[in-house]
Amino acid sequence: MNWHREIAGHIESIYRESNETFSNYQQQMGLPCLSGCGACCLSPEISASILEMLPTAFSVVDKNGVEFAEQFLQQLENSQDFVCVFYKRLSLDGKKGHCTNYEFRPSVCRSFGAAALRDKNGNKSMSICKYIKEAFPETIKNLDPIDAPVIGDFAKKITLLDPYLGNKLYPINEALKLALIKVLSITYFEGNRSA
Ligand code: SF4
Ligand code: SF4
Repeated sequence: MNWHREIAGHIESIYRESNETFSNYQQQMGLPCLSGCGACCLSPEISASILEMLPTAFSVVDKNGVEFAEQFLQQLENSQDFVCVFYKRLSLDGKKGHCTNYEFRPSVCRSFGAAALRDKNGNKSMSICKYIKEAFPETIKNLDPIDAPVIGDFAKKITLLDPYLGNKLYPINEALKLALIKVLSITYFEGNRSA
């Protein structure tokens, strides 16, 4: 098996673990996301590494085929839209919507709701989505950052799997594009070998 395919499998396991960690924390603290909301996905600041987008890129190629993936790549190359290509808007202002890449979404997308930030001295502070803050003002007052999972901890674990592809962050659509190029080249190589 190709080494990056194997790594993509490890990243998926880390994603499952991070999903449980962040969503359990939100549930336990009584800070669920608002029904139908997807406003965080509109942010132009969402970034990911090529490595983090490998599971997504492999899933695009493996589920839909090389031809579809090449067209998708072309579409990404021609697009000027900064909003994540996987976000499906369900309202005019775009705040209602959902992720069409939920299973493979990168680390940062799993910590949008309520999590902790750690500064360079190791001190933790809370980072909470403004819509959750508005909806649960009393709950927010009692939070202790000590109990909260830290944004970036799972991304660091992923980076260790391949620092060359994991260290640099790009806007999410750009990271996806570069991951797709990588995965398509692996797929061409695998095709040539099995021919
Ligand atoms: S991958 Fe999904 S959760 Fe992440 S920004 Fe895109 S649409 Fe939102
Ligand atoms: S984190 Fe906030 S903006 Fe994102 S889906 Fe949850 S409630 Fe909505």
